[in-house]
Amino acid sequence: MTRKIRFYDTTLRDGEQTIGVNFDTEEKVAIAQALEDYGIDAIESGFPAASKKDFNAVVQISRAIKKATVVPLARMVRRDIDAAIESTEDAAHRAIHVFIATSPIHRDTKLHMSREEIIEKIKADITYVKQSVDEIIFSPEDATRTEPDFLVEAIQAAIDAGATTINIPDTVGYDTPDEFGAIFDNLRANIKNYDNYGWSTHTHNDLGMANANALAGIAHGATEIQGTINGMGERAGNVDIIEAAVALKVRHDKFQVETNINLKKSKQLAKFIEKLSHMRIAANKAITGSNAFAHESGIHQDGYLKNPATYEILSPDMVGATATLPLGKLSGSHAVAVKLSQLGYEVTKQDMAAIFPEFKKIAEQTSIVGDDQLETMMTTITEKQVVSH
Ligand SMILES: [Zn+2]
Repeated sequence: MTRKIRFYDTTLRDGEQTIGVNFDTEEKVAIAQALEDYGIDAIESGFPAASKKDFNAVVQISRAIKKATVVPLARMVRRDIDAAIESTEDAAHRAIHVFIATSPIHRDTKLHMSREEIIEKIKADITYVKQSVDEIIFSPEDATRTEPDFLVEAIQAAIDAGATTINIPDTVGYDTPDEFGAIFDNLRANIKNYDNYGWSTHTHNDLGMANANALAGIAHGATEIQGTINGMGERAGNVDIIEAAVALKVRHDKFQVETNINLKKSKQLAKFIEKLSHMRIAANKAITGSNAFAHESGIHQDGYLKNPATYEILSPDMVGATATLPLGKLSGSHAVAVKLSQLGYEVTKQDMAAIFPEFKKIAEQTSIVGDDQLETMMTTITEKQVVSH
């Protein structure tokens, strides 16, 4: 009974809205290809109405991508919609993503539109898109702060007009996982033929809950996760697709779902996006941070060396990373002995009795003891005839 979960990447749209990030067309095409290679099902290719350059980038991506669906974003404005349709004419698979805000604060202070006017706009514009493109994604922007009854009404109107996937954006990163999951329960209970449509999550990380919310959506009947690589995006960013995909794999016992993601390419893709976005991955970032598989304390290193599963819930190999045991002042003699043997030293327990205090002295003065420092230490000790190389 495993369900298939799709991944929809918006690194090229929401991700590019990250402050200081600006991809050129060539980079956008290269990113789209890397995303397709990673197993992403749909790629949000940009906002073609924004400029000629953005329009052209969507055209180039549409031509380069063969397997994934190419999806430009459009406001419910005819100029945006026409640009989205025109820019994807050459795509092997395409969809158009249209959105309009539905929450009271957006209706009253941003759009100055009544509930009725919004429903009429949804009906008219989705009917218009449907004349040219079959696959239509509809987002009620700020869905998580929209009245539940109006959210149902807006979504039902979109579906009746021809929308095929409904995306639920937690635009401002406000919901908790139980609240976000409950939205899907309510939609399943009130939307006609719920299972005939795609249901997507779009979660932001303002309170650090983007991944928890996306996973709650999946547990409550969503079929797709929208996100970005490295969690790029407006403000605190979107859910990191790599984190979500790995969580679904590691906790298969709980979610019972499959995806098309090539997890082994996770680290490589994260580094590629890091380079092009000039946005550094934090050392303690889940899965792709440089410390994500590093064990420093002596207790952890000893357990890890006896059985990696003592301190690892997934093998770094699964995501194309490698484990490290950096040696520092908290490291124990077990890890030091293993490292020395990797460097080619045959060290007995007796030898370690002499070596370990030397190691501790060096470790006290420096944060991490590197291979070269170990070599120097061993040369000094060898000269004193303690061990043989
Ligand atoms: Zn967003």
